[in-house]
Amino acid sequence: MIIAIDGEASTGKSTQAKKIAKRLNINYRDSGAYYRAITLYLKRNQINPQETLGKDLFSKIDISQKFKNDSFSIFLNGEDVTSKIRGHKVSVSVSEYAKKPEIRNFVYNLLRKSSKLNSIVVDGRDIGTVVFPDADYKFFLYAIPEIRAQRRHKEINDETVKIESIEREIKERDDIDSTRDIAPLKKAEDAYAIDVSYLAIDQVFEEILEKITI
Ligand code: C5P
Repeated sequence: MIIAIDGEASTGKSTQAKKIAKRLNINYRDSGAYYRAITLYLKRNQINPQETLGKDLFSKIDISQKFKNDSFSIFLNGEDVTSKIRGHKVSVSVSEYAKKPEIRNFVYNLLRKSSKLNSIVVDGRDIGTVVFPDADYKFFLYAIPEIRAQRRHKEINDETVKIESIEREIKERDDIDSTRDIAPLKKAEDAYAIDVSYLAIDQVFEEILEKITI
């Protein structure tokens, strides 16, 4: 079984995906975390998004994800980069790197390989449209930007970070992600859309679970 959770930035996709994985006892993959880890690698190596990436580059990048006992981790060439990839530097540039077809294909292969042996829930932007168009269940989460920024701000819990700058970053990312030529952020025709603006985490979760019959 494959479950796709797509949607706008900071709508709680990964929170929901993890809850589903736990409840159904299936595997979880965070596709955005792959793009973030690749961005971290490329930035560290001073490779900018405009550069053409050679094939041999990807043989130097080993990324693995682990979801165990409710806890998610991602490793880049053996280093635990779970928190590092959430930093501002990666967040503001990831969407430019994620436009590149070489990078997208690399991530697609990792995701499809993960789905070969086990049931899986994957969150992202193009999971139901491009990566797994035949997914058993597809969801699309969206919300008012101000509310998403407020929630994110609360989560970060750092008063030096302004809500306005979070909102700007969220909008900018959505804009780049939804207007790119390849695999843009959009709802799959057969996805079930949920406006999460005024719903609590558990309300969204119940709505999702109601649709899944196993
Ligand atoms: O999900 P998250 O916000 O961590 O994703 C970070 C970025 O990775 C997105 O803004 C987008 O540019 C890219 N991404 C993507 N396709 C996906 C998941 C994420 O292009 N399926």
